[in-house]
Amino acid sequence: MKPRVLLVGGTDSSGGAGLSRDVVTVTRLGAEAALAVTSVTAQSDIAFNGACHLGAEHVAAQIGAAGSVGAVKTGMLVDAATVCKVAEALPDVPLVVDPVLASSSGHALLDNEGIGALLARLLPRATLVTPNLPELALLCQTLGLGQDVPLADRAQALLALGCGAVLVKGGHAKNGRICEDRLYTGPGTPPRRFRGPRFPGTMRGTGCRLASGIAASLAQGFDLPAAVVRSRALLVAEFAGLSRP
Ligand code: PLP
Repeated sequence: MKPRVLLVGGTDSSGGAGLSRDVVTVTRLGAEAALAVTSVTAQSDIAFNGACHLGAEHVAAQIGAAGSVGAVKTGMLVDAATVCKVAEALPDVPLVVDPVLASSSGHALLDNEGIGALLARLLPRATLVTPNLPELALLCQTLGLGQDVPLADRAQALLALGCGAVLVKGGHAKNGRICEDRLYTGPGTPPRRFRGPRFPGTMRGTGCRLASGIAASLAQGFDLPAAVVRSRALLVAEFAGLSRP
């Protein structure tokens, strides 16, 4: 039987991000997707027109009915009630938390209380958390860190919450044509660096895909660095072919 990955998050009507991207990524890497939908959003690449949230109880019911899985990936989690229910309902398997805080068009996908709950309840259970630079800044601001705190110390602040590793995605950095992601695994251990081409800024859904590909690879038995390499390679191949998978 193919390894299964539980994808917890929102749908995006434009197809640019969210669960539809996750499902295709997991499938492309040879795993199967199980779903727990948190929210059905109406959005395009440039505008967010509304969302219908499913509610924490129904999200938990979906997780309960999803069956046995080898890994979980979370994306859009809406609010604190949903975050807490998800944390309670999750099976004890590798967990990749993509801390999705806002759409590219600027709409919040997790409210402020939800960010607190994510830090307190979900990150301590995570095998990996995958913030981009704005998400890392906002998470650390919620933890009370000043704006001038160096990147490595920000990553350590998340590790101190109990998550196994932090992959800081460099896609939002303002420099050059190369994008560098850094994997932090513990205090005193230098980050492992992954470099590749920078995708065009307008390309949405890259964070969803990267996290889903890592979760699929973990479900298939790859270790964490290998899972990151594999998921990045799929992204690069997709963009080289200029296809949305
Ligand atoms: N909408 C949904 C439902 C998402 O899950 C995500 C990201 O995971 C986004 C929007 C944000 O994607 P982007 O930053 O590409 O707009």
